[in-house]
Amino acid sequence: MSASSLIPTKEPRFQVPDVRGRFGQFGGMYVPETLMTPLLELSKAYAEARRDPAFQNDFTNMLRDFAGRPTGLYFAESLTKHFGGARIYLKREDMLHTGAHKINNAVGQALLAVRMGKKRIIAETGAGQHGVATAAVCAKFGLKCVIYMGAEDMERQALNVYRMRLMGAEVRGVEAGQRTLKEAVNEAMRDWVTNVRDTHYILGTAYGAHPYPMMVRDFHRIISMESKQQMLRAENKLPDHVVACVGGGSNAIGSFFEYLDEPEVELIGVEAGGRGIVEGQHAARFAGGRLGVLQGCLTHILQNSEGQIEGTHSVSAGLDYAAVGPEHAYYHERGRIKFAYATDEECLDAFKLLSSKEGIIPALESSHALAYGCKLASDSPRTSTVLINLSGRGDKDVWSAARAMGVEIKL
Ligand SMILES: *Cc1c(COP(=O)(O)O)cnc(C)c1O
Repeated sequence: MSASSLIPTKEPRFQVPDVRGRFGQFGGMYVPETLMTPLLELSKAYAEARRDPAFQNDFTNMLRDFAGRPTGLYFAESLTKHFGGARIYLKREDMLHTGAHKINNAVGQALLAVRMGKKRIIAETGAGQHGVATAAVCAKFGLKCVIYMGAEDMERQALNVYRMRLMGAEVRGVEAGQRTLKEAVNEAMRDWVTNVRDTHYILGTAYGAHPYPMMVRDFHRIISMESKQQMLRAENKLPDHVVACVGGGSNAIGSFFEYLDEPEVELIGVEAGGRGIVEGQHAARFAGGRLGVLQGCLTHILQNSEGQIEGTHSVSAGLDYAAVGPEHAYYHERGRIKFAYATDEECLDAFKLLSSKEGIIPALESSHALAYGCKLASDSPRTSTVLINLSGRGDKDVWSAARAMGVEIKL
């Protein structure tokens, strides 16, 4: 893919964030003073790297040779026939090394860390996908790697813990609070402040303080750069709808970015509806959230009337977070990206359907986008197209999906 994928241009989609990291009123740098120094250092280093053709070249080569890009655009013929409506296409991020889109960002940030002379990497992980991608790039570049993971998540995702350790990472369990992702992020930030001289923090989604939301977006922009050309080749026109699931928002902003300035393309982000829109039972920030600050960023957050962060629930760990990336909050407010949600039940139905109709087992996160995309396709004319971003593969989820469907796997 072209040598310009990180370099900003004058088009409107590049006008955010501003120099202070603001997407309209959202985003920013809401951090203690001790974190301002590393964040400003990172902003400066990234601003230089993104304009350097050598950095761009290394990034492109690593995406091709290590991560496995470009990923395919797949016409889901059986699924299309099944619903009898719009033609359904899948962007196959599930085919990437380590199993999901997350490797795009891990590669980009590892290259940046090397460029900055950092020898040690830290990262947070929830389900373990970002931890695995980070451990992989650290092994490749010979960087010391420490992954923070909630103790609860370590028990639920024991296989990913072992994968990270196999690749040489140290996995540190976090016992605070709910023992999940939010606490792991806090620990990673604490580590960063203490060890900033030799350490880079590879944050895993388009979230947090500036420059992370912008930088992570840039590293995933390749998804829509590829899909745009692939759709034009396949259909001779742009897709009518692009659908992606939204946790922090990285796969979604990457798959939407090149279409933001194409008003005829409808963009839909799908959040986790869990057991329904009742406090504590979902993670649909646009269905129940309010403006607030969490972990460096002003955005839509699930919180109670006192501003306490609400508990969340989703069958998919990767969508189970109380806040959403600031760029999504911005385009939600402007009406450019529409948001919907899929429930656990709809997600599991889509998980089974894609497996049985196409021979592709999707990640439970991606199954949310599938659930909504299929509904949309069945309500749309046959002449139209729906492009669904298949953010990851479902191998990691087979165990928990089976349990959620009441099937017992005996070993
Ligand atoms: C982590 C993950 C997500 C959610 O993260 P985003 O930053 O919102 O993309 C979605 N799909 C898969 C497969 C993941 O691993």
